[in-house]
Amino acid sequence: MDKCIFCKIASNEIKSYKVYEDDYVIAFLDLNPASRGHTLVVTKEHFDNFTTVPKDILNHTMNVAQLIAQAAITKLGAKGINIITNVGKAAGQSIMHFHVHVIPRYEDDGLSLTFPPKQIEDKELLLISDSIKSGM
Ligand code: AMP
Ligand code: ZN
Repeated sequence: MDKCIFCKIASNEIKSYKVYEDDYVIAFLDLNPASRGHTLVVTKEHFDNFTTVPKDILNHTMNVAQLIAQAAITKLGAKGINIITNVGKAAGQSIMHFHVHVIPRYEDDGLSLTFPPKQIEDKELLLISDSIKSGM
């Protein structure tokens, strides 16, 4: 099977602006950054998304994302950070290789990540919470 683009970056077949690398993950700048310092933390092994990555590698990926977030605050002057991982096309995932976005935020950076509120009844909230609980 053909390697995906993040597998190729992880194996250095494709160039990236790398900020971190170890045996399990690589982190590099997003080529179409949402903000200054927008970085992707990517597993070296191919997993489709957040829901299928083994827990120990997931934990490690989040630890590295935390280090990058801290560096963006101390070295780039970020005033906040968004941590995002998209799961599936419906959620906007375009590269089907698990990755975490570390998006530094600045005052008045013009970026808007809002969740428009929806009306929902108590009965429906109860049904939904029961469904999620039964799937865990
Ligand atoms: P997602 O939409 O969550 O799958 O995010 C994929 C991200 O990968 C997008 O923000 C793209 O800008 C970024 N991207 C795609 N190709 C490259 C590349 N070769 N190097 C760095 N970032 C990339
Ligand atoms: Zn891959």
